[in-house]
Amino acid sequence: MAFNLTERLNQRRVGQLLRQRLLLDSPQQPLLQVDGKALLSFCSNDYLGLANHPEVIAALQEGAKTWGTGGGASHLVSGHSRVHQELEEALADFCGRERALLFSSGYAANLAAICALVGRGDSVLQDRLNHASLIDGALLSGARFARYQHGDLTSLEQHLERISGDCLIVTDGVFSMDGDLAPLPQIAQIAQRKNAWLMVDDAHGFGVLGETGGGSVQHFALKPNDVPVLIGTLGKAFGTAGAFIAGSDELIECLIQFARPYIYSTASPPALAAATLKSLQLLQLERWRREHLGTLIARFRQGAADLGLPLLPSQTPIQPLLTGSSERALHLARLLRSRGILVPAIRPPTVPQGQARLRVTLSAAHNTMQLEQLLSALAECWGKLSD
Ligand SMILES: *Cc1c(COP(=O)(O)O)cnc(C)c1O
Repeated sequence: MAFNLTERLNQRRVGQLLRQRLLLDSPQQPLLQVDGKALLSFCSNDYLGLANHPEVIAALQEGAKTWGTGGGASHLVSGHSRVHQELEEALADFCGRERALLFSSGYAANLAAICALVGRGDSVLQDRLNHASLIDGALLSGARFARYQHGDLTSLEQHLERISGDCLIVTDGVFSMDGDLAPLPQIAQIAQRKNAWLMVDDAHGFGVLGETGGGSVQHFALKPNDVPVLIGTLGKAFGTAGAFIAGSDELIECLIQFARPYIYSTASPPALAAATLKSLQLLQLERWRREHLGTLIARFRQGAADLGLPLLPSQTPIQPLLTGSSERALHLARLLRSRGILVPAIRPPTVPQGQARLRVTLSAAHNTMQLEQLLSALAECWGKLSD
């Protein structure tokens, strides 16, 4: 396949799988300016509406005045500022862990964690629907790699039977394309019984689940020992950018010493850490954001059920509507867009063949009227879909 670019692009085009980027002229918010038109968006992972919050913006501006714009060097050389340190300590506190370590992206954090923990001769077991960065981390690590059926404890145990030596079990907390939760209490039990380590990527859980937004681990009231390696990302509910790994002092020290994506990458701008400190505060204190989001989720599910739409069993702001074929997903997305509503069609290879869908995401920034607009547009458009 190497270098035959035309052929590869054509294959994508023929399969209706070619992707295109939207061009935005507005910040992340429910009403987006796209190609000169206002569209009501249900696309963003800005679950709490913090990506364009005046206090977070002010913190970023203040941060830039104090710290400038660039990270300058890697953390191990001269890029580790006091405000990075403060954010790491605040995130560790927030997660109830000894320490936390900042990364510039969730993708890098996942590569780092897996590659630092396992290598040749070890094993990694992952849920089949895990995020691509987790899969890539496992491949890069050189460890033996297997995937168990989605959320399936029996399948997980069967795989574990065949493994000797160190094993890392890795799962999303909330699955990014389905919105469902991993059965973490049961997985944690199995892991402990088998002497395996459990790593949870809670990119879509933090801020959204749990009393104070502590994510899946807080939702299930799990202890640090249950999930020794915890990943959070900052570009979703936190409304900024970057990611963190939280765990024991020893785990974090190992990552600092051995994780190549950490060692060989420039520190993110310190001003960004200042902004994230503010959004971490808001995320914990402003419970109304989670409550309002909960109301929107319940109303959407009720409304969609009344229309007979094929919902997946998700309690989170990720509410996919299964369409089956990519064509149907694209058709529905186009019909909605012609009514001023933006919902992305998600197609293979992001989801399995035959499971294309519209991925509706809700945000605390939506009001109830906007949600009713979505439901009435779905009522009109769903019937117009061809089989
Ligand atoms: C978005 C996401 C990531 C990647 O995080 P970035 O900070 O966007 O690189 C990792 N894991 C999951 C489950 C995600 O949804």
